[in-house]
Amino acid sequence: MVKSAPVPQVKPTTEFDYPALKASKLHKAYNNVEVLGSVDLSIQSGEVVSVIGPSGSGKTTLIRLLNGLEQLNHGEIELNGQPFLKYLRYGENKSRLVEHPEHRIKIGMVFQSFNLFPHLTVLENLLLAPRYHKLGNKKELQMQAYQLLNKVGMLDHVWKFPHQLSGGQQQRVAIARALMMRPQIMLFDEPTSALDPEKVNEVLQVIEDLAGEGITMVIVTHEMNFAFKVSDRIVFMEQGRVVCDDAPQVLRDGKHPRVEAFLKDVSLA
Ligand code: ADP
Ligand code: MG
Repeated sequence: MVKSAPVPQVKPTTEFDYPALKASKLHKAYNNVEVLGSVDLSIQSGEVVSVIGPSGSGKTTLIRLLNGLEQLNHGEIELNGQPFLKYLRYGENKSRLVEHPEHRIKIGMVFQSFNLFPHLTVLENLLLAPRYHKLGNKKELQMQAYQLLNKVGMLDHVWKFPHQLSGGQQQRVAIARALMMRPQIMLFDEPTSALDPEKVNEVLQVIEDLAGEGITMVIVTHEMNFAFKVSDRIVFMEQGRVVCDDAPQVLRDGKHPRVEAFLKDVSLA
């Protein structure tokens, strides 16, 4: 019997060995005024990260840079170890933004103001993008839409138009619409701050359920109790910088005086 050479025990490298999202040295300026200065952020697959901080600290800018809605002035973003956006300098004074737009659909986005298409029904809102990107046939996509609408408690409203829904209902539809693209990461920019107070919890509950399912999420929010409950990490921003990025418990322990002062201001601490 010929003895075969031992098989080397090398763990195969897969995309899961990399962070779901890795942003390095992100800079952004509007009219030469810096609003984001050298922000690093790494999100592991399945992680829920909340971004908090005072108004004007750059939270929206950060989240819009992450999915390419705003152009970087410096830095790079990778998804699963693959380049997505990179600000490239070459030669003396030359630079350009290199984008791999095929990765865009891996990132789902939920806006403060819902942004549903007003002339389309709930069902049509969900079907538009996945049909365009040919993610399945009509029947499959409809089934998926019904499942997601059921998940967010909106199955009874499939034929309604956005104006016939409350803000909380519209936001739940917007979340289902983003999930239709089967994103690898979901970004939320203050998803409840445009809602009447009594509608806030129904949307937070949906997001909390998604967190429980292991969906990778970055959530900009002013809902501190929610952020501390659902997040694996909390990123605190101030004046365009990440001041701290830590587990909720560490932030609560008062090791970051600036964060503690902020939390006191928003009356959590
Ligand atoms: P946050 O979401 O934390 O409130 P933003 O990211 O919206 O903060 O804003 C950060 C800073 O960038 C603010 O000073 C804001 O005025 C400025 N800013 C945001 N968007 C623009 C823009 N399109 N043009 C000029 N300045 C902007
Ligand atoms: Mg904002």
